[in-house]
Amino acid sequence: MKYPALSNYVEGKLVSDGHNRLDVFSPLDGEVISTVPLSAKSDLDKAVDAAKRAFPSWSNLPIKERVQVFYRYKYLLEKNSDELTELVHIENGKTISEARAEIEKSIEVTEFACSLPQLTSGEVLEVSKGVECRIERYPVGVVASITPFNFPNMVPNWTIPNALCLGNTMILKPSEQVPLSANRIAELLKEAGLPDGVFNVVHGDKEVVEAICDHPGIEAITFVGSTKVAKIVYIRAASKLKRALTLGGAKNHLIVLPDANTEMAASNIAASMSGCAGQRCMAASAMVGVGDVDHIIEKLCEEAKKIIPGKNLGAVISKQAKERIENYITEAEKDGAKVLVDGRNYKVPGKENGFYVGPTVLDYVRPEMKIAKEEVFGPVLSIMRSKTIEEAIKIQNSSLYGNAAAVFTQSGAAARYVSDHASAGMIGVNIGVPVPREPFSFGGWNESKFGVGDITGKSSIEFFTKLKKITTKWNPESKVNWMS
Ligand code: NAD
Repeated sequence: MKYPALSNYVEGKLVSDGHNRLDVFSPLDGEVISTVPLSAKSDLDKAVDAAKRAFPSWSNLPIKERVQVFYRYKYLLEKNSDELTELVHIENGKTISEARAEIEKSIEVTEFACSLPQLTSGEVLEVSKGVECRIERYPVGVVASITPFNFPNMVPNWTIPNALCLGNTMILKPSEQVPLSANRIAELLKEAGLPDGVFNVVHGDKEVVEAICDHPGIEAITFVGSTKVAKIVYIRAASKLKRALTLGGAKNHLIVLPDANTEMAASNIAASMSGCAGQRCMAASAMVGVGDVDHIIEKLCEEAKKIIPGKNLGAVISKQAKERIENYITEAEKDGAKVLVDGRNYKVPGKENGFYVGPTVLDYVRPEMKIAKEEVFGPVLSIMRSKTIEEAIKIQNSSLYGNAAAVFTQSGAAARYVSDHASAGMIGVNIGVPVPREPFSFGGWNESKFGVGDITGKSSIEFFTKLKKITTKWNPESKVNWMS
């Protein structure tokens, strides 16, 4: 195996009990690269105990001291960027440049966390003569973060720097399909000076996720993954009276008007549908062409054909994912879609056991078809046709999801219309992957997110803190008025 067998990371140490284990595959070539423990409730108990022990002293530090650890962590992410990139590439299968972009985003969110002292100073007002009211923020306690396979470094870092700078301690439960980056993050946090117990990693699957939802020592849970599991985690965590914010799957629509800049639209759409092999919750999965956009589709297919698996297109996560994606394409073809670019049965020379699907463009998909409604999570674009922009919006609005939507046009009025009427949390105008950069927060609508607020940016301050309101009077002579 390329990497040693993994252990949980609790109170600054690797902890290895007699667990059942799962093989970890590299999607690049199908090789087993490590094994991951499938932890039980008793393993979680140890991590929660450690996080509870670490909480009083960590939360008592002034925030300006806590963020010093994250200035150092940001430096370590930069210093080790090549190695972290390689690790993401190997365990997830995305290309080196995509893996590098992921580490760059982790650096950006850490940079944001370092600005939290500036954003969390309290509020104070003299509310009656001689009486002052002030608001202070407190961490919520031990929090848990449950993460998916598609961003092994970035999604854990969506929550780690913010939650910890705000004074919480944490249990991370990474995806069992990509567990290696999590342990490397733990090592870097320790090297940055984070006290033991503040950050812990517990590996595993469904069993340990359920134990997290039920654990009385955990106050708040963030989850990123499929909608099916996001719902389970939200309901189970809320039934145990915890705070929860659970981000789910997506079906992102790009509405393309005939006046769009052909080159820009075609290359942007091709990049959006195929980046990270389509395994992004922000990937373009459906395009709605309004009127005659054949010239853009033609150029888009030219661009798609330049995207070559094993070169500038990474692998999908597993053999099962490859089969699932190819079945969607075959079923859509049977239902009447026209396959303009076909990525099925792709073999990369020298990596015949890797999990590759080539870029696929399907035209004349109808809104009622399965492929138009469900999340495919592969490099596949389904093109639907509409006569008017209103009809295109109707198709977008009928989606259960609502992560992102985008419009390609040169008309300000059309762009405003789509921004106003699309039912999604993140909108792109001539941008195929409209991920908000820090300090703007990340989060969708509808079945792409359950809970209040967003997971990153300023919005995360509300999730990871609770408010204390202190009313004070020191002046006995003051003839105070109402309620004083
Ligand atoms: P997943 O839901 O299968 O797994 C996510 C996490 O939940 C993993 O840690 C996994 O161990 C755990 N899990 C899986 N099944 C479970 C169950 N039955 N009960 C309890 N826990 C369970 O998701 P995935 O396949 O790892 O990731 C892909 C999905 O994540 C896609 O749907 C994608 O759109 C979504 N995603 C969403 C966002 C967003 O911001 N909305 C970001 C990234 C990924």
